[in-house]
Amino acid sequence: GPRVVVIGAGIVGTSLADELVARGLGDVTVVDRGPLPAAGGSSSHAPGLVFATNASRTLSDLAAATITKFRGLSTPDALCFNAVGGLEVATTPERLAELHRKAGWAASWGRRAEVVDTADCVRLHPLLDPATVLGGLHTPDDGLADALTCIAVQRRRAEAGGARFLADTQVLDVLTVGDRVVGVRTDAGVLDADVVVSCGGFWGAELGELVGLTVPLVAMGHEYVTTTAVPAAAPFADPRTGHAAATLPILRHQNADLYYRQHGDRIGIGYYGHDPVVVDMTSLYDDTADQPMPSMLPFSASGFRAAWDESQRVLPGLRDAAIADGFTGIFSFTPDGGPMLGPHPGLDGFWVAEAIWVTQSAGAAAAIADWVVTGAPGIDVSGCDVNRFAPAELDRDAVVARSSRAFVEVYDIIHPRAVPAEARDLRLSALHDDHVARGASFGVSHGCERPLWFAANRSLTERFPIDAPGMPEWYTRGWSPIALAEAVATREVGGLFDMSSLTRVEISGPDAVATLAPLITRDPDRPVGSVVYALMLDETGGVLSDVTVARVDHDRLVVGVNGPLDVARLSHAARHARARGATVDVREITDETCCVAVWGPRALDIVAPLTDLDVSPSGLRYYRCADAVVAGVQASLTRVSYVGEFGWEITTSASDGSRLAAALGENAERVGAVWGGRAAMDCLRIEKGYRSWGTDMTRTDSPHEAGVAFAVAKDHEFVGRAAVAERPVVRQLHTLVADDRDTVLLESEPLRHRGSDVGYVTSAAWSPAVGATVAYAWGPADLRPGDAVTAEWFGQERSLRVAPPVTVDPENLRLKG
Ligand code: FAD
Repeated sequence: GPRVVVIGAGIVGTSLADELVARGLGDVTVVDRGPLPAAGGSSSHAPGLVFATNASRTLSDLAAATITKFRGLSTPDALCFNAVGGLEVATTPERLAELHRKAGWAASWGRRAEVVDTADCVRLHPLLDPATVLGGLHTPDDGLADALTCIAVQRRRAEAGGARFLADTQVLDVLTVGDRVVGVRTDAGVLDADVVVSCGGFWGAELGELVGLTVPLVAMGHEYVTTTAVPAAAPFADPRTGHAAATLPILRHQNADLYYRQHGDRIGIGYYGHDPVVVDMTSLYDDTADQPMPSMLPFSASGFRAAWDESQRVLPGLRDAAIADGFTGIFSFTPDGGPMLGPHPGLDGFWVAEAIWVTQSAGAAAAIADWVVTGAPGIDVSGCDVNRFAPAELDRDAVVARSSRAFVEVYDIIHPRAVPAEARDLRLSALHDDHVARGASFGVSHGCERPLWFAANRSLTERFPIDAPGMPEWYTRGWSPIALAEAVATREVGGLFDMSSLTRVEISGPDAVATLAPLITRDPDRPVGSVVYALMLDETGGVLSDVTVARVDHDRLVVGVNGPLDVARLSHAARHARARGATVDVREITDETCCVAVWGPRALDIVAPLTDLDVSPSGLRYYRCADAVVAGVQASLTRVSYVGEFGWEITTSASDGSRLAAALGENAERVGAVWGGRAAMDCLRIEKGYRSWGTDMTRTDSPHEAGVAFAVAKDHEFVGRAAVAERPVVRQLHTLVADDRDTVLLESEPLRHRGSDVGYVTSAAWSPAVGATVAYAWGPADLRPGDAVTAEWFGQERSLRVAPPVTVDPENLRLKG
């Protein structure tokens, strides 16, 4: 097996060593610059609260896996996990509603959780003042992980399997030959390695710099205090010591950015309400010289005063105690709150597993171990992959701004459509100023600003009156009824959509086609002018991405992909092909190009007058592309549609974008077509049965399950082909239509069939064409059109019916023009 060096002996590195040894790897060395077992990182002082309910299914699954493992490692004298349960309390009606939403996530992801009333809150946590809480969310499987005990037990097991742990050994450099890792240089000598996994916690960015990898995490301080003895807590103290000494559930009071755990007859209090403390890593050792370890900064008593007052209000027993000690502990925050997992895109053998809480530690370690050993992590890691950010998003100021926001919002109620205020305008479409002039509301995707709808279209709601119900306030956040009018206008007349923010990659060179072919489920080797929709699969047949490949020239492909992960994947393939002697180049061209889609019944009237190309339905056929001069600029037309209407995506250079768009806009106006935003497009694509990768399907799903098996060719060789043929279909992505006009759904709501939790909603839109909400949801494969199901919206059951996959124009008549 490969020789592995793990950098960092915190909870993540140690869990990883254990997982690697369990997978039969014998040569595993864990190095830490600090002493062992308490190496001085975040794990050395972590209070270890584990709440498994999360908006992200992946983070919830990783937490559940961590709980299962740590429970299993516990012995009577080494309690790794103390399953005291979790209680999150609400002190405002908004928070109480949010707890219902969270209970929905728990049901969706298969966790146990229940919204309970005030009396139950106090029964579960008798220190609570009933006058202060409106209710709570009880999660009986949550609890306290004792990080140091988990580290000790896993280390012992890993060492028994042959792993070595080296204390006081700092990694100074990572050694490479070509684009492969060959070892690390430490202050105690060189360690040869085929695989190096960086588990350096909040030192992750600095370790990444050793190999030219930007790891977008920010070391931040977070205050934690322990009280003196609390008489009211004494009866609930467990006679055992350490983390075992608790019987009270872990408690979160998120309205005040506070959480609590019991340490015997004392209470530990963590606080996120203070201003973000961004740690200066260049002076870390000076700043912490007087502290017990480098992950502890001095405590700020003044910054904690409000937290202490509020704590005494909700837990009156604390009035009989004082703060005994406190510290500002350091750990990682990231731009989107997710961890950093995965391979270095340009250096084979170097992996990252950082910005991981104790809560997800063992689950993440198992996923990374699977990924390193088999090539597949076994879960949807798209939201955790260190390669998920566009280069512009990796700008340090942007990373710090977004990560600081993640700190501030850690306990906030986050709307699924919320758009951050920080680090905006990182990537602008060539049409940005025009969109601003049209009154666009913007969302952000991979750092790109993209219009959601246009205020200039407000009067459309009169031209296309839609009998939409009154939407609940939560649904209307980050949304506008204008989007419905834009959707209707597109179907009835036509719509222009700025597709510039969608990631485009050019693959060029004599071996371009041969390099791409094995990565996708359809053969791209077709005549110039052909376009194919295909999938990228992993070895297990899971959907890594869906792509549109245009053969624009014999040795040039333009591939529409789903973002930075695909760019990294294609670049990696090209690098390896070149190493085998191929001539191929992969280049992202998103920012240098501009793409406008023209879709709808009047699309021909908009575009035909601007070009000599025969753009009639039979001239440029469906799934064909051609170069042409459009409105005087050199452009490329691709006859595809993400909304299910006749038309093209027209791509030109960024510098010509405005000119092209102006001409298209003028003709559009003449026929009554409109600019549409992403919200309208989302509604249209859901009506049409089109999937959004990352939302509706991920690498955990097969093409058959996700309803995209039509894109898998029988006569083509590709990665995952054998697995796809063998995978049983147990669950499926279904299309649902709500029974009642006024039902709305967003995402992640639990799906029930005959009273049991059977799945969850992935995306949904209120559809003007149907006059009701259309949603996609994962559920059992044996659900059939017509079956009655329910989805839960803030604790209320809504009835829906399973529908045929495509709601609008299943015969593709509109696409044909
Ligand atoms: P660490 O434990 O920091 O380990 C990284 C190791 O890498 C360190 O030991 C370091 O010495 C080593 N290292 C770095 N650079 C080098 C080098 N060049 N060479 C060799 N070794 C190197 N999480 C929860 O889930 N629940 C909680 O309740 C919770 N509460 C918290 C409260 C506080 C006050 C803090 C600070 C954090 C809390 N966390 C909590 C977060 C959690 O503690 C961390 O996310 C987790 O411990 C990180 O583990 P790790 O193994 O990645 O990092």
